[in-house]
Amino acid sequence: MGSPRAALAELLAGNRRFVSGQPIHGHDVTAAAAASGDQQPYAVLLGCIDSRVPLEAIFDQTFGSICVIRTGGHVLDRAVLGSIEYVVGELGVPLVMVLGHERCGAVASAVDALRAGRSPGGALAHLVDQIAPAVREVGVDDPRVRPMAVRRHVLRTVAALRADDRLAVPVAAGRLTVVGALYDLATGEVALLET
Ligand SMILES: [Zn+2]
Repeated sequence: MGSPRAALAELLAGNRRFVSGQPIHGHDVTAAAAASGDQQPYAVLLGCIDSRVPLEAIFDQTFGSICVIRTGGHVLDRAVLGSIEYVVGELGVPLVMVLGHERCGAVASAVDALRAGRSPGGALAHLVDQIAPAVREVGVDDPRVRPMAVRRHVLRTVAALRADDRLAVPVAAGRLTVVGALYDLATGEVALLET
């Protein structure tokens, strides 16, 4: 599982097992014990906090196989970036996936805030501020702004990760791939985005 290509193939194979209703990884204590030594994950996933998108389940992954980071609207901040830099730099993980999803509440909040011209305030304003550029790129009055902004925001997040000082080097060397994808709430399918 050392190459980015093999890592991506395994993730997508896991999603196909999940979609077909035939996952092979039960989350019981036996699996936890088997993975209780040193960890050697092969991917790090950045997804949304949405309760309908549990990442280990939708990729049929067991303990020890993937590192998962979830924030509202998969927004980056320094803690998230530092976590990804750690997994890539210290554990040698070859794949980062940013996974967005339809009907994302964080993206909807950003659209609503821009339309109203009013920040939600508090720390939630940080999420809105980080998603707002994707909403503006699509156009806040576009009737399909929400689904299109989700896609734009995934692509922007992928671009930001590829440009990160610590990640750009392994990306350039072919040791790391950063991909974006969308999760379909109705079917459970994950579709890669062209970047
Ligand atoms: Zn969401």
